[in-house]
Amino acid sequence: MPKGMLIDISKCIGCRACQVACKQWNNLPAEKTTFNADWSNPPKRSATTWTKVDYHLLEEEDDIKWKFVKTQCMHCLEPACVSACFVEAFKKTEEGAVVYQENKCVGCRYCMLACPFGVPKYEWEKRFPAVRKCRLCIDRLAQGLEPACATACPTGAIKFGERDKLVKEAWERIRSGRGKYVEHVFGEKEVGGTSVLYISDVPFEKLGFPANLPHEPLPDYTWKVLTKIPGVLVGWSALLTAMYFYTKRRNELDKPEKDSHRG
Ligand code: SF4
Ligand code: SF4
Repeated sequence: MPKGMLIDISKCIGCRACQVACKQWNNLPAEKTTFNADWSNPPKRSATTWTKVDYHLLEEEDDIKWKFVKTQCMHCLEPACVSACFVEAFKKTEEGAVVYQENKCVGCRYCMLACPFGVPKYEWEKRFPAVRKCRLCIDRLAQGLEPACATACPTGAIKFGERDKLVKEAWERIRSGRGKYVEHVFGEKEVGGTSVLYISDVPFEKLGFPANLPHEPLPDYTWKVLTKIPGVLVGWSALLTAMYFYTKRRNELDKPEKDSHRG
């Protein structure tokens, strides 16, 4: 059964324990940040920040309130990144996670163009960059554990489980919440459905969620869109083939160094 995650925005207190747990488990370095007007820290997800809590200050008549939204890869059921990646560096696993295999990547970054949520990030500053994003802690799932973020959340804002059951529970919470929640499970239908689902006590559009996403899976569109970008199929194919062999060679040269670091 594919797994998923239900994030209840009404329960999130913005403590960032999920963000820290992700960094710790995945051994991701901290980022140097500066003061931001919206208090989020760091300001954006990046190659070293795979999950990030967004802060939203909402003004309503006489009321001002903070809302917090944990963001990460949505682990789409039919991922546009997978369909855009012609060397199959991305794949959707049985567990529900969408994972990336660096050794197959040719660095074309079509995955970044294709993703409707702006998730895959590139290690621009590295000499041999790769794409980075949340893996739904697939290594923890293999050990029968939950993703690190779900384990760390002190308020129960993140629930991990079978996606089908989470969709049911989301609607039960909405129906029994006496109008507390908006009547929408974000991710149930968007882009054909995602493994990460959200429910909220304020409209999703006020929290920066992309509005009007189609309910059809995006892979149906990905290559239609990419082929409209001049040169994508003809000019780039030769370049990408060269990049592929370059990347392969690079990985071979890089391997002993990586292995010695691990050792
Ligand atoms: S959110 Fe983006 S990166 Fe994640 S599975 Fe969907 S298309 Fe791929
Ligand atoms: S750990 Fe839970 S409460 Fe804290 S920021 Fe993350 S989702 Fe919100």
